[in-house]
Amino acid sequence: MNRSVLALFAASILAQPASAATLNEAIRADMPQLMTLYRDLHANPELSMQEVRTPARLAAEMKKLGFTVTEKVGKTGVVAMMKNGPGPVLMLRADMDALPVTEQTGLPFASKVRAKTADGVDTGVMHACGHDTHVTAWLGTARRMAAARDQWSGTLMMILQPGEETSEGARAMLADGLFTRFAKPSHVLGFHDAAVLPAGTIGITPDYALANVDSVDITVRGVGGHGALPATTKDPIVLASRIVTTLQTLVSRENDPLNPAVVTVGSFHSGAKHNIISDEAKLQLTVRSYKPEVRKALLDGIARIARGEAIAAGMPEDRMPIVHVREAQSTPATFNTRKLSQHARELFTAQFGAERMASPPPAMVGEDFSRFYLTDKSIESLLFWVGGTPRDKWDAAGGDPLKLPSLHSPFWAPDAEAVISTATEAMTVVALDLLKKG
Ligand SMILES: [Zn+2]
Ligand SMILES: [Zn+2]
Repeated sequence: MNRSVLALFAASILAQPASAATLNEAIRADMPQLMTLYRDLHANPELSMQEVRTPARLAAEMKKLGFTVTEKVGKTGVVAMMKNGPGPVLMLRADMDALPVTEQTGLPFASKVRAKTADGVDTGVMHACGHDTHVTAWLGTARRMAAARDQWSGTLMMILQPGEETSEGARAMLADGLFTRFAKPSHVLGFHDAAVLPAGTIGITPDYALANVDSVDITVRGVGGHGALPATTKDPIVLASRIVTTLQTLVSRENDPLNPAVVTVGSFHSGAKHNIISDEAKLQLTVRSYKPEVRKALLDGIARIARGEAIAAGMPEDRMPIVHVREAQSTPATFNTRKLSQHARELFTAQFGAERMASPPPAMVGEDFSRFYLTDKSIESLLFWVGGTPRDKWDAAGGDPLKLPSLHSPFWAPDAEAVISTATEAMTVVALDLLKKG
């Protein structure tokens, strides 16, 4: 065969619609290379908004596959576009940052990296949330989609997002023109590895899947003095204690019990010595909810209770508590639109079988994946779970995730091969279907 006949022959093979089995085989053939990439990413994690090596490496890979690649979007993000005729715009997102955690998995490719956080703290760095599996499956999907280019029509918009753990990255990429400079997607899709599911299973949670996450600081001001002379003081520790206790009623007494909500006071600091009444107490809260109206009621309630208790304690107007919601660190709830959730479940059930499908309940953790959908609620959006806990460990624990390392644990060692191959297959199946030719 001469070259043009060979090319025709190759094209005709590629033009075959990918059956479940052929896609699985193609991904299996990609796995050795993908696992090499995974181990490299795992051994070289980078903290949020400090990603340099990861995006550079992946940008080069995407160029080789024929994507038009733009780097440094939203500081360190990557946008890789493949315009392939008329049709929908599908955005596939992977987050790529690691955590300030010192790895203790004992894996041969465990991270030994140390770095400084944005606050200047020297720390070990680890892919303890499994974003290295996300990046690898993202590239795996890009490979399959590039190879199957003549089977689909539309625009594939693949983004590598920095700073998910600090809730900065999605916002930074959107602010840098993600939906205006490149394209506005009709569909956005991503996945997260899961410690609460056995390796190779897929979980879909329609509607609210992950929570609104807010951090609140309360500075409770008092009038300091001698510990033996309380009448000459206004004790901020007693006042802050009242505030902490009354805050418990926000969820237990004010909130509709059918709306999930959490108010946790995670930090309480005041005073320096036994016999001194301090003049200030500092509280740090995490506040979780799903619906925006519940979020508002909790945040308003916190401000009201802080002020109300200060009035009850006789604090003057100019010494009222200062309540500060750290908006820059807030993460809105992740909402999986019903149509895409349902459609993906049908595709996955056909591809993987019902026994690999799960329906995990919503979780009270946050993900800034939410921000893409919230930009325009006509976008179909789905963040699905791919189980990562190795089967033998899952079975030994009797399927009880509480007995196993969670995400963010220094011991989190997913069955990366299962996560990456399953996620690559799942994302490719959805992408090929959403972008299938007229
Ligand atoms: Zn995380
Ligand atoms: Zn994560």
